[in-house]
Amino acid sequence: MADVAIVGGGILGLSLALRLAEAGHAVQVIEGAPGLGGLAAPQALGEFTWDRYYHVILESDRALVGLIAQLGLADRIAWGTTRTGFFTDGRFHSLSSSLDFLRFPPLSLVDKARLAGTILRASRIADGEALESIPVEQWLVRWSGRHTFERIWRPLLEAKLGVNWTRVSAAFIWAIIARMYAARRSGAKRERFGYLDGGYATLLSALRADLERRGVRIHTGSAATEVRVVGAEVVVARGAAPPVTATQAILTVPCPAVTRLCPALTDAERARLGRVHYQGVICASVLLDRPLAGYYVTNITDPGFPFTTVIEMTALVAPATFGGHTLAYLPRYCPADDPWWARSDDEIWEDLLAGLRRLYPDLPATAVRHHVISRAREVQALPTLHYRRDAVPSVETSLGRVHVVNSAQIVNGTLNSNESVALANAQAAALLPRFA
Ligand SMILES: Cc1cc2nc3c(=O)[nH]c(=O)nc-3n(C[C@H](O)[C@H](O)[C@H](O)COP(=O)(O)OP(=O)(O)OC[C@H]3O[C@@H](n4cnc5c(N)ncnc54)[C@H](O)[C@@H]3O)c2cc1C
Repeated sequence: MADVAIVGGGILGLSLALRLAEAGHAVQVIEGAPGLGGLAAPQALGEFTWDRYYHVILESDRALVGLIAQLGLADRIAWGTTRTGFFTDGRFHSLSSSLDFLRFPPLSLVDKARLAGTILRASRIADGEALESIPVEQWLVRWSGRHTFERIWRPLLEAKLGVNWTRVSAAFIWAIIARMYAARRSGAKRERFGYLDGGYATLLSALRADLERRGVRIHTGSAATEVRVVGAEVVVARGAAPPVTATQAILTVPCPAVTRLCPALTDAERARLGRVHYQGVICASVLLDRPLAGYYVTNITDPGFPFTTVIEMTALVAPATFGGHTLAYLPRYCPADDPWWARSDDEIWEDLLAGLRRLYPDLPATAVRHHVISRAREVQALPTLHYRRDAVPSVETSLGRVHVVNSAQIVNGTLNSNESVALANAQAAALLPRFA
């Protein structure tokens, strides 16, 4: 049996810890933040607590729902039908049903038929590898036409990726379409989402308790500062805190952190890790004393807004959870060099509030009871052209006892917790025979 040190206490690191502990290994988790959960961690918003970033569960999220069930929380998932809106040409449009789609004014019937054909085509592709050699614009223009690309796809790509959209392959949009299509698989083609009562905090605390029962040692609030192999051991230095020693280490942190933590990696390994580029997010959580337009997602295709989407969480989560208030998120997806990273929270909020009031002119500034700005720089690895061939990081390293299992290895899907849990399950199964 091995002693395994897992660096990173997000959903991925914790799921790996569970699978390895189940197999009888001695596991330690090293998390830099004061609490567990990473991108899925909770935060306080006034007197309420909810996920720092918005999360929904899909019925097709087999690995995630399996984990939730394993922890005895299956009956804590609430499912609901939600609506999707578009803010286009200065107006809200519902795009929540086939009828809405037929009525959607910005596109002609021919455009709509081609758009529907694009979505169907994407939903039938099982593996996105062949799409990795095609620039996203080329693929979308080919199947949807130039007009629909400019009116719908391009604003959506800009909303998700900013200027980085030109760098990604068609595999990016394929993965998003496939996930959204899965959410609407029911006969009525209505979007069905779920959430955990109490948010991800419910999952994280049950997972932590389960891990601790299995003897997993969890260290929070002490970031790993270096990972090196010394003889038959891996030493994870933690600044002034005592180092953690193990026989194997798994790093679940983003690629730039892997490079920083492991100075003994080869130049070729550093170069490959350096080919993974990340998209970040600056996101406001806002508690309001009245609802917005009632769409879970509002995609904004008009230019000039400081955020790219509005997520009205209480269109899904019972408003009673927040004392009858409305919880909304205002995300702005940012590339690494976005000047917004250098702005203060107050400057950011001033712009976001102005954007919110432009979108909902009847909303007074006094309707906002609380807001919090969250930032994460390395959220999603960009699926750049030939991603698998040129960039996806390898699990094995030249350090032997040090392995990398991180979200940049999600290749046939978009970043979401289900993919994180599925990756952990698959990589634990692959590593277990080597740790025996
Ligand atoms: C805006 C947004 C919306 C999302 N919406 C959804 C959704 O609707 N549905 C869904 O399923 N998923 C959603 N996700 C994705 C989901 O949050 C991620 O898939 C998941 O949380 C990723 O987990 P992870 O463990 O790979 O990474 P992370 O959560 O980033 O975990 C990595 C951990 O490593 C820690 N760390 C970093 N460096 C060190 C160090 N040196 N030492 C120790 N620890 C370190 C970090 O603090 C962090 O806790 C969303 C994410 C975002 C940002």
